[in-house]
Amino acid sequence: MSVLVVGSVALDSVETPFGKADEVLGGSANYFSAAAVHQTPVQMVGVVGSDYPVEKLEPLRARGVDLTGLERAEGESFRWRGRYRHDLNSAETLETRLGVFSHFKPKLPPQFRSAEYVFLANIDPRLQLDVLSQISKPKLVACDTMNFWIESRRPDLLELIGKVDLITLNDGEARQLTEHANLVQAARWILERGPRVVLIKKGEHGAFMFTKDTIFFAPAYPLESVFDPTGAGDSFAGGFMGWLARTGDLSESNMRRAVIVGSAMGSFVVEGFSITRLLEVTRSDIDARVADFHRLVSFDQALG
Ligand code: AMP
Repeated sequence: MSVLVVGSVALDSVETPFGKADEVLGGSANYFSAAAVHQTPVQMVGVVGSDYPVEKLEPLRARGVDLTGLERAEGESFRWRGRYRHDLNSAETLETRLGVFSHFKPKLPPQFRSAEYVFLANIDPRLQLDVLSQISKPKLVACDTMNFWIESRRPDLLELIGKVDLITLNDGEARQLTEHANLVQAARWILERGPRVVLIKKGEHGAFMFTKDTIFFAPAYPLESVFDPTGAGDSFAGGFMGWLARTGDLSESNMRRAVIVGSAMGSFVVEGFSITRLLEVTRSDIDARVADFHRLVSFDQALG
């Protein structure tokens, strides 16, 4: 089963302590797709401007990302400029230029409207809502967001939260959205407003999955060098949703596996700029990393 994603299709300029990249392929939909397509075909919805190097999306298309829902509009593409200092867990946004996204009216191709697995990646919550209203009977709808939208579109975001099954946020965003410093309380606050699953990502400190009755925690893969953290969250979501769509199993134990697949994809993407590493890794690299995760967290409980 394929997974549908709507999100930003961007040109990113990023500075980290280890180097700089200018106007490279970025955006939540690109990162998500490059990660998810290792598990299952992807349907992408978004918009690019007339200046976008669409030929660079060819490797994604060749792997199974359907770009029929990617509109080309007159004007400038979405651009994001960010910087990471020594704390690689938090990006400092230097500039966000919405460009063609500010007038985007998503219109889903008919064959996308029956999508069962839907990821409303980080983009204006009004667009996330618009896409959701065009889908007939999804099995699982998940969304992501960020500080930019929590500040500027709070009412729309709350409306969206009431309509999704699952939300992914990083710890700072969860605190900002809920005004709870404690993450367990923050997750509870969100669970009371709609979603039945809340995934809170903590960068190099791993990720929590909360449901009404359970908490699961996955560490981040202990990498010796992290090159560029951009896209880790979207790649995590891509691995997570891709796994669920591929297996069609929404049980708690399978969602735990999905968290690990997501963590594996997040750990690959940060090894290079843009989506480069996601295009290089193979299914067996992913399997090997998932096995590493298993070893990382397994222990024998001493009794008595
Ligand atoms: P993350 O996975 O959270 O590191 O997401 C990184 C991506 O988010 C970058 O490739 C940016 O292009 C994209 N991005 C940054 N700001 C925004 C925004 N306000 N709306 C949508 N996408 C954004």
